[in-house]
Amino acid sequence: MKIINNISDMYEYSAKLKKRGHTAGFVPTMGALHDGHLSLVDRAALENKKVIVSIFVNPAQFGPGEDFDRYPRPVKKDLKMLKDTRKVDCVFTPDKDSMYPPGSATFVSLENEMTNVLCGASRPGHFKGVTTVVAELLNIVKPDRIYLGQKDAQQAIILSKMMRDMHFSTTPVICPIIREKDGLALSSRNAYLTPEQRDTAPVLYKSLQMAESMVELGERSAETLKKEIRRKIKEAGVEIDYVEAVDAATLAPVSAISGNVLIAAAIFVGKTRLIDNTIITI
Ligand code: AMP
Repeated sequence: MKIINNISDMYEYSAKLKKRGHTAGFVPTMGALHDGHLSLVDRAALENKKVIVSIFVNPAQFGPGEDFDRYPRPVKKDLKMLKDTRKVDCVFTPDKDSMYPPGSATFVSLENEMTNVLCGASRPGHFKGVTTVVAELLNIVKPDRIYLGQKDAQQAIILSKMMRDMHFSTTPVICPIIREKDGLALSSRNAYLTPEQRDTAPVLYKSLQMAESMVELGERSAETLKKEIRRKIKEAGVEIDYVEAVDAATLAPVSAISGNVLIAAAIFVGKTRLIDNTIITI
């Protein structure tokens, strides 16, 4: 497993792959890796000759007062985890100054409502940071496919649109959410939870499951579903950031469940913000 930390070496590595006719699958991460990340690596290894993972905690996607400074960075452990999979050919670990050299002033941002709803409403500027860094990474790594988790459904939808709009030749592949046994979606931020908070956190998934069951039983009102999800979360004494039902392609709010609907929610368990979602297809 090759570890590359500067951009010109990464260009060279990608150029070599192209010359040899090898396909490359790319998994961008912020590190603190878990089985959710590894599921993307597995899928990339199935569909490509070579697998490239990046680890970069992107300052541009954190707002003031968010957890950029305390975001976990267990680099040695992450590298060992990736090496142990025996599926990763290259890890790209650029530093902040090479991704954002002094004086760099160009951003890639999706200028429609998609970035202002759901997580975008509570994290202004977040998706501009995400689209900018992924555009940079795609230009540096030039993969055939990029692997994204449905865990961050809004992010995956926005990035897929950005890649279409900007004519990137890379194909996005969206992979299912990996969960703990009790349903809690794996997240690097779960490490912030105290044991009591960890016990409470699965209420987020349970409330989404309840909504799925209600739809199976015939409920079609988005308002009713959102109200019931909110009620269940509040009962557990947890603060809600948002609960929304939107069109899974456009992220526009829906009033009735029909077609592909993304039900997404964010909560604060203590100070830790957790997100989860489900896509319901009728
Ligand atoms: P992050 O390191 O949090 O930026 O995540 C890197 C990638 O892993 C993103 O595409 C995430 O959506 C994906 N990911 C994170 N958690 C999970 C999970 N529990 N299941 C599947 N994919 C995930």
